[in-house]
Amino acid sequence: MSSQTSNSKLISESWKGQNSKELFERAVKVSPGGVHSPVRSFRSVGGTPVFFASANGATLTDIEGKEYVDYCLSFGPLILGHRDPEVEEVVRETAGLAWSFGAAEPYSLELAEFITNNVPWAEKVRFVNSGTEAVMSALRVARAATGREKILKFDGCYHGHLDALLVKAGSGLAGESSSDSAGISATAIANTLVLPLDDEAAVEKVFETEGKNIAALIIEPLPANYGLLIQRKEFLSKIVEIARKHGTLVVFDEVISGFRTGFQGMSGLLGIRPDLVTYGKIIGGGFPVGCYAGKKELLDLVAPSGPVYQAGTLSGNPFGMRAGFATLRKAQRDSVYSVLEDRTRILTREMIRLLNAKSDREWEAVTHSSLFWFRTKTKDAVRRIDQIPEGHKEGFAKVFHALLKHGIYLAPSGYEVGFLSWAHTDSVIAKTLELAEQALKEI
Ligand SMILES: *Cc1c(COP(=O)(O)O)cnc(C)c1O
Repeated sequence: MSSQTSNSKLISESWKGQNSKELFERAVKVSPGGVHSPVRSFRSVGGTPVFFASANGATLTDIEGKEYVDYCLSFGPLILGHRDPEVEEVVRETAGLAWSFGAAEPYSLELAEFITNNVPWAEKVRFVNSGTEAVMSALRVARAATGREKILKFDGCYHGHLDALLVKAGSGLAGESSSDSAGISATAIANTLVLPLDDEAAVEKVFETEGKNIAALIIEPLPANYGLLIQRKEFLSKIVEIARKHGTLVVFDEVISGFRTGFQGMSGLLGIRPDLVTYGKIIGGGFPVGCYAGKKELLDLVAPSGPVYQAGTLSGNPFGMRAGFATLRKAQRDSVYSVLEDRTRILTREMIRLLNAKSDREWEAVTHSSLFWFRTKTKDAVRRIDQIPEGHKEGFAKVFHALLKHGIYLAPSGYEVGFLSWAHTDSVIAKTLELAEQALKEI
């Protein structure tokens, strides 16, 4: 509890003694939906969000002192869990060094060298402050490099909230798009083509007519923002081959999969080298960091060495750089990936066993590395959004609330994936299963 008590006279802590419902009533008055990113609002599962005051390891503590085992983990960045002790030491040390320089410093250099030394296709990197910014900038580079305007993306992949990619498949011609948000001008998405996942023939067809106009094909090589839609390796290899044949650059958006599915992300697992890659989430160790990386000659197009303008006041800030560096070094030193994968498999297998004993529908777990997604069992693999079974959202909401009540926090949407961290030890998993058994009795 001590971590929840601040001694600062500058912080009023006006929330002390209130519960989450009361804080939410205050929050909706000052922020849209009461939150600063939509999924946090619980709209998708119903009810009102829990307000958390602190976190440690695998545990979240809400403002009333109730604890939860966290499987949302800030939507992916916290691969070592909350406030890993070694990273925390680095962060505390950083607070005594500098908070921001807006100038050259050695901390971003060390993280940049670490990434380029470990990821062969990341020959140069540029740090930004979010995944959205990384994607936006990478596409700008791709357009500059090719002198082409169009971008091809896939329905069900999320690349951040930049205008050009907030699109969904249109109803007309193959590849046609329509905006997925209000406030986006028709011109902003006029050069965005959208295709379904898992359909190489559709990609072939669009490239036949549009190939010479497409600057970049962008894809999450492990789509993990609309459930977990694991793609066939042949599909990914084929579309990369088609793009290359037409002089289109391949951008792998590894903001969620980078340093999560292994040290070289999905590119390493698939043996496919993208021209440009975007990272975010894990590389900041829980602080706001993104980056885009790739071939030297592409990154050298970026200002000040080249004509592509891109800048950031707080880019390369020392908290994110040093926390990210410490996180990646520890992940490498302790070889976390195979252990996390085993734990994920065990946890999800047992959770599904419990769920299926109690629930009115049959569930299954889709897993990859330390990511998981619970969904209604289907005959065939689900690789596209239109294959997600009906009623999934409602079924998930019931499970979510039962687990929440008993101290298990999943991401509050049936379309978000779950994560494990290094802090989710065997005993945390055993405790989770005990809590889940209690919870699911009530479904
Ligand atoms: C999270 C995510 C983004 C956006 O990153 P932000 O830091 O939220 O802007 C982009 N692409 C993918 C694949 C992501 O998972």
